[in-house]
Amino acid sequence: MSLFENTLKQIRKASLLMNLPANVEEVLSHPERIIEVSLPVVMDNGHLRVFQAFRVQHNSIRGPYKGGIRYHPQVDMDEVKALSTWMTMKCAVVGIPLGGAKGGIVMDPKSLSARELEAVTREYARAMTPFIGPEIDVPAPDVYTNSQIMAWIADEYSKIKGHNVLGVVTGKAIETGGSLGRDSATSQGGVYIIEEYLQSVGKQAAGMTVAVQGFGNAGSHVARLLSELGMKVIAISDSKSALHCADGIDASAAMVCKLEKGQVGECTPVGAKCDIITNEQLLALPCDILVLSALENQVRVDNADSVQARLIVELANGPVTPEADEILARKGVPVIPDILANAGGVTVSYFELVQNQMNYYWSLEEVLGKLKPIMQNAWRDVHGNAVKFGCTYREAAFITALRKLEAAITMRRGK
Ligand code: NAD
Repeated sequence: MSLFENTLKQIRKASLLMNLPANVEEVLSHPERIIEVSLPVVMDNGHLRVFQAFRVQHNSIRGPYKGGIRYHPQVDMDEVKALSTWMTMKCAVVGIPLGGAKGGIVMDPKSLSARELEAVTREYARAMTPFIGPEIDVPAPDVYTNSQIMAWIADEYSKIKGHNVLGVVTGKAIETGGSLGRDSATSQGGVYIIEEYLQSVGKQAAGMTVAVQGFGNAGSHVARLLSELGMKVIAISDSKSALHCADGIDASAAMVCKLEKGQVGECTPVGAKCDIITNEQLLALPCDILVLSALENQVRVDNADSVQARLIVELANGPVTPEADEILARKGVPVIPDILANAGGVTVSYFELVQNQMNYYWSLEEVLGKLKPIMQNAWRDVHGNAVKFGCTYREAAFITALRKLEAAITMRRGK
């Protein structure tokens, strides 16, 4: 089943539980605008190469479109449609006034030189200029894109517009108009939700064991933040391998090592008893919390039964398939869904946009002081709906989002 079909299935399940009007479901089952472009770029060898790229603007009823750009050889329109739909839901769950979008370029960024990467990015920015802007659609980083790529997009867009438009993208470095706290916002938001969850089930964080799949931006910060709560990170992974250390991994040291050596498999601490395992083995490790922070479709019908974690937290988008969700529910493994768990990222992106538009910047304390209650309120709403409807956290998160979208759609456009 395609990822977008998975997304529609998630909407369908929540719609049935909450009795969502069919026309509202119909509106949210179709992106408002789909953009597909070809980007001709002169490569270092002097040859012209054409890259295929997308932007899907799913829904803007609650505010400007918002969503990351992914550079990946396997990114396709179906994936981008799904990711844009989840962005609409995510912004609604946490109640920030933004809609949902997502973009992607089909390429392996690791195989391009820095000059080629910049040229592709600037070409993408030029192609997207008519469709993006602080009040229209605001892209951000996603898998294999970062603050440097955002700087190139902001620069290209500003040149075309003839003035500096910092708020055209978020996830920028501080020097180019970024917000304090954005780097770790996705993980920090997820940690606030984990703390709320633990409080709701009467458990303590200290001493819990954690496995983290995908030690990139989201995964490395969550490992560090959970360690700071007294949890023991026993395994981490990237696209090449996974490192398992029963006595625990120093997340900050592993972040430095991964930057230097390029893969966690080469980061065994001196004197520690560790094994190099596969990503599949990491998913099956006995632990208190399994944090999924790599890509979609990682826990599927064929491996969901082997999961031994007591809680799954989706920092990645769509890492658990709908079929796996059902297996995990039967096994009694709660899943804190992506549209809630990773919504801290888009929330601080929203703060970045607000700061750019005001040209007035907040301290880290102010950013975190605004993020925390937003995440706590979202948890309260989702948890409340899970109890009210006797459903999973995913279904409850969709119900929370869909109620807000329903109100906006019916008040503006009729029932
Ligand atoms: P990233 O590129 O910084 O990191 C991704 C990591 O996953 C890398 O370490 C990569 O090696 C690893 N990886 C890739 N394929 C893997 C596989 N098959 N098995 C294990 N590891 C694998 O990306 P990121 O920004 O951390 O994003 C990760 C996920 O979190 C994505 O699904 C993204 O959409 C989601 N997310 C990120 C943010 C954010 O602010 N960064 C916000 C919301 C959602």
